[in-house]
Amino acid sequence: HSARFLARQQQSESNARAYPRRLPIALAEGSGSFVTDVDGNVFIDFLTGAGVLSLGHNHPELVRAVTKQLGRLTHGLDFPTPAKDAFTEAQLSMLPPGMRDRMKVHFCGPTGANAVEAALKLCKTATGRGDIVSFQGGFHGSSHAAMALTGLVSQKQPVANGMPGVHFFPYSYCSRCPVGLSPDTCATNCVTLLENALNDANGGIPLPAAVVLEMVQGEGGIVPARPDFVRRVRELTRALDIPLVVDEVQTGCGRTGTWFAFEQYGIEPDVIIASKALSGIGTPVALILYDRRLDTWAPGAHSGTFRGNQLAFAAGVEAIRVIHRDDVLGNVAARGAQIADRLAVLTRLPWVREVRGRGLMWGIELADPGTGRPAGSLAAAVQAHALRQGLIVELGGRDDGVVRMLPPLNVTAEVVDTACTILLAAVEESCR
Ligand code: PMP
Repeated sequence: HSARFLARQQQSESNARAYPRRLPIALAEGSGSFVTDVDGNVFIDFLTGAGVLSLGHNHPELVRAVTKQLGRLTHGLDFPTPAKDAFTEAQLSMLPPGMRDRMKVHFCGPTGANAVEAALKLCKTATGRGDIVSFQGGFHGSSHAAMALTGLVSQKQPVANGMPGVHFFPYSYCSRCPVGLSPDTCATNCVTLLENALNDANGGIPLPAAVVLEMVQGEGGIVPARPDFVRRVRELTRALDIPLVVDEVQTGCGRTGTWFAFEQYGIEPDVIIASKALSGIGTPVALILYDRRLDTWAPGAHSGTFRGNQLAFAAGVEAIRVIHRDDVLGNVAARGAQIADRLAVLTRLPWVREVRGRGLMWGIELADPGTGRPAGSLAAAVQAHALRQGLIVELGGRDDGVVRMLPPLNVTAEVVDTACTILLAAVEESCR
């Protein structure tokens, strides 16, 4: 059955091979942490629509909220509507108290990449500058500028992508330290390279319009930034009056245990990019939150038809209500600790380089113990093994050498336990 759908898709679609290439299933329906394929096989879903379904598939209260909105108003361009108003208020209420009054919301249509584009245009307009600083290994989307900022070279090589004025600097990827230090000898020397380039008026780089940073590189292989790295980037950008843009498309909406991941780093960014899990149920929406000081662009400067998805707004308000009521962020912390605990044993295997994560964003990095090279084919074997045992996980990082998990934020201890058992066996057997 699945095979028939896969073959039909392969024949008719131009590029129908990204996810199904490695996860060859045709999806029929989903409920909570589970998804069922067209043959009736049930899987634990630790991909959750690429981090979109933060409350799992078809959360009943979100379904109800969408259904209720459905007969009322579905699309509203950028007109004010009650659903949009409630959503905007709810989003602002999730910001740290000190930031609420100084941030504005701009709706973007409707993907994360579009919100990245908006953030760049905002910062370029406000500063009058053209250059952008981004980080190695980062991911920001598939549209042209978002792709140009993406530091995962494999994602953009085939189209010879590059934009003049985009400068890449090392990220604090400590287990592959860009400057060859160990955590105890490091005083975040990787930031020194950025600092030096920004302060060298003759041989460095022009003062950029923005520095764009992920708090945890997601597609880049679940690499949490070091706190002192983030703080130094913030100090540097503040001293030089460069807007700091945090891309929370993947880390946002509770994924790392706080509503936004930057909250755990004790910094305040100037621009926040969010999308994926904003509605909690996959009805698309994307936005930027930005400091009023940057609000110098003209009305209509970043427009777009699909900025008014009322179904997404209705679901998003309900998602926040459920997240508060059910202490979902408390669950993220508890289930994250459970995953850390269960998977820690893997690091005794020579091919397991590191197990890392924040909240419910986890990765197992596999690498050749001799050369240190990412072990992409081993990670693919782990993924295939897990799928056969009923667990969907994704890959990422350099050469796809990291097995990644993005469980629903309300996942139960029991499901986490089963998933970890499957994953432990998959890694142990694949490494044999
Ligand atoms: N930024 C980050 C950090 C992401 O993880 C992604 C998607 N994986 C994007 C931007 C792009 O979002 P979209 O695919 O919705 O355009």
